[in-house]
Amino acid sequence: MAHTDPKEKCGLFGVFGDPNAALLTCYGLRALQHRGQESAGIVSTDGNEFIQYRGMGLVADIFTESIIDSLKNPTAIGHVRYSTTGSSNIVNSQPMVVDYSRGHMAIAHNGNLVNANLLRSEFEASGSIFRTTTDSEVILHLMAAPENANHPDCLVRCMRKIRGAFCLLLMTPSEMIAIRDSRGYRPLSLGRIGDAYVVSSETCAFDLVGAEYVRDIEPGEILRISNEGLRSERFSDEKKVTPNHCIFEHIYFSRADSRVFGENVHLVRKRLGARLAEEHPVDADIVIAVPASANSAALGYHDRSGIRLDFGFVRNPYVGRTFISPKSGVRTESVQIKLNVVGETVRGQRVIVVDDSIVRGTTTKAKMRHLREAGAREVHLRITCPPHLHPCYYGIDFATPSELFATNRTLDDMREFLGVDSVGYLSVEGMLHCVSQPPSHYCTACFTGDYAIQPQEEMGKHTMECRHKS
Ligand code: SF4
Repeated sequence: MAHTDPKEKCGLFGVFGDPNAALLTCYGLRALQHRGQESAGIVSTDGNEFIQYRGMGLVADIFTESIIDSLKNPTAIGHVRYSTTGSSNIVNSQPMVVDYSRGHMAIAHNGNLVNANLLRSEFEASGSIFRTTTDSEVILHLMAAPENANHPDCLVRCMRKIRGAFCLLLMTPSEMIAIRDSRGYRPLSLGRIGDAYVVSSETCAFDLVGAEYVRDIEPGEILRISNEGLRSERFSDEKKVTPNHCIFEHIYFSRADSRVFGENVHLVRKRLGARLAEEHPVDADIVIAVPASANSAALGYHDRSGIRLDFGFVRNPYVGRTFISPKSGVRTESVQIKLNVVGETVRGQRVIVVDDSIVRGTTTKAKMRHLREAGAREVHLRITCPPHLHPCYYGIDFATPSELFATNRTLDDMREFLGVDSVGYLSVEGMLHCVSQPPSHYCTACFTGDYAIQPQEEMGKHTMECRHKS
């Protein structure tokens, strides 16, 4: 179910130097729609004026042909956004456009700053007024502050002040600027279409617009793209800061056809599934996936175990994030609106179900019950990551720790609650074995509680506020 799944906050896409930049950005945002479905926006420039359009809902519903025509310019940046309830409004949608002492600036942001509230309090104490509740506006205030705005190293100075996970796409009349935090929590890549450059949260969007992948924006890099070409500078020393890539991008968030942190997501997921088969083997008749993020892992489980792979669930691709929840007296359950069991596949079978995670457990419980009701003889649930036990402070919206399914539950408790014959989670070591960089280069904090940037240190009393704000 949508509202119980973990939520990524945003996706970024931008084009510099193509007459159809706005249309390409619209296509790019459609490919990134899985990273945020509540609002979307595009800002374009002819090198002088900025034109913007932002709306609530899905990219395809917001950007009509006439709106895209009105945005026609050679440079554009765009954003898709997810936000927590209460802050989902057009004011908080992005990109944001401001005029400050250096001229026009547009900003689009993906991630979460752990010191945003502290910085905001400091600005407010000195009289600044904020229009939104977003971290992006804090960054804009930093850039507009006189001690930074007039400094030749304005961006470097500002990036050194903000802490946490962030990918930024900035646009001035003459430049598009891509920035990634010093630990590289979220993915951000550079591509090329002819003489034009594109930047995207995920490479799957490059394929859609016919761009070739050039490279990732490096952690701690500020990449300026202008008519003079590319100019790269750093605001952190890569020899001193270890990367901390979000491993959950590989498990769940990113699309399987993207290249993330140097490798294809589908292949990582296949390895996760194969490892899961090694760690939690079971005698069964078929392997099925909970589509779509567990499809690749189920294939890996099947490859390694030799147990037949089949379709046990079918997802309705036309259900958006929001739909009318079934009322009492209607037998349909919310989960069924999105996902239906193929009874002919599972009836009388011993079924291994591969899924990517269990957050609150209620949706998983409903899925498992539907398998039983369809006649599955045995149900063995296999999860392609370790149990989620801790909150994420770096841009992913999980349940609170007390709401997390695995908190204070033994495997027996889980089995009983979910109504299955067995439950098996991948180990932390097993998960890290399936990715290509050294284990120390990945964030696993929501599984291990090992936070590279300590939330208490950085956020003090603002910790909870930060997690719940947009
Ligand atoms: Fe990703 Fe979990 Fe780390 Fe958040 S805490 S960045 S979801 S691995």
